[in-house]
Amino acid sequence: MASLSSNSHQAEKQRVLSQDRLPKSTREIEVIPAFRRRSSVSFDDGNLAILAGQSYILVHRGFICRHSAYLAELAENLKSDSCIRLEGRPVLELKEPAEDVSLLFHALYDGVTTLFQQSTNLRIAFVLFRLSSTYHIEKLRSEALAFLKKGWPSSLGQWDRRERHVPRFDSDFARAMLLPHPIAVINLARRFNAPELLPAALYELSRYPPSLASAGLFDPHDGLHHVLTLRDLTCLLRGRESASRFLSTFMVNELEGRKPSSACRKRSDDHPDRWRECQGAFDLVTFELLCDVNGVVIGRTSDPLFAMLEAVNMQAHLGDEGAWNLYRPCDVCRDEFAATVHDAREHFWRKLPEWFGIDVPGWG
Ligand SMILES: [Zn+2]
Repeated sequence: MASLSSNSHQAEKQRVLSQDRLPKSTREIEVIPAFRRRSSVSFDDGNLAILAGQSYILVHRGFICRHSAYLAELAENLKSDSCIRLEGRPVLELKEPAEDVSLLFHALYDGVTTLFQQSTNLRIAFVLFRLSSTYHIEKLRSEALAFLKKGWPSSLGQWDRRERHVPRFDSDFARAMLLPHPIAVINLARRFNAPELLPAALYELSRYPPSLASAGLFDPHDGLHHVLTLRDLTCLLRGRESASRFLSTFMVNELEGRKPSSACRKRSDDHPDRWRECQGAFDLVTFELLCDVNGVVIGRTSDPLFAMLEAVNMQAHLGDEGAWNLYRPCDVCRDEFAATVHDAREHFWRKLPEWFGIDVPGWG
């Protein structure tokens, strides 16, 4: 990579702005915008200036054109006699935030490996997917989409991994700076034809209160207010209802009044008082889940995948010495229930596209 710009003073002298580009009222006083060369991705031997907002970078036209026929066409259409020049180079102006354009060319020149190792990796992938789709940079688009699928995956196993690793945020602002909001992801997927992101993004959004989902949100990162289309809001509410109904049915059929296994170990216990302990454990788990469904656990009131997993996790610990975990049945009953929950969650995941009204080939 080239060194930083030799100096901004020299760049200022070399900057030429066509008079035709200025409003008539300002031609006489020759107001020249203060374009600033960004040092992060810019090359002294570059032969094309990329301008975004009030800043620009110098890049290699042949390299850029090799990645994108669309950018090649834009560069080809620059008229040498009328276009503005920066440091003597023709200028291709992109209508995107300067930070995002800088990120795009950083990814093109250096690859995405180091970018995706940052804590804001999903935010970075979001921006790169949007820009690479806009400018038809296919290889980068594929890489960004593959990474976005870590956040909004197609399989339940990947979703569970995501849930373990995505941090909980104290505020919407903190979340927005690190992680794109599901509404923004849904709109991005619709705009640039990535339906495989939609079921997980809609499921994530279905965990929010419907009033928040319908009101949309302001994203401090891009300064935009994101709202769902009426079509997607309808899909969201229908899917949310179907998911909630699935959980209710699961609780009635598989948990409420659940009988011990035919091989329950406590049935052979010498103490008759212990014969009903496994059923009692399931009754307690049912009660806890009903409490959650009724809104005791804030933020988890409409997350059936989490609720079903919690039903198993409650039974995981043996308990403290002298204080047996009352939610824990015997190992046989617990293993049978865990297998039931596993199958139910997989079934639930496979149904997401249908519930949200989306056609995703190869889902799950
Ligand atoms: Zn048992």
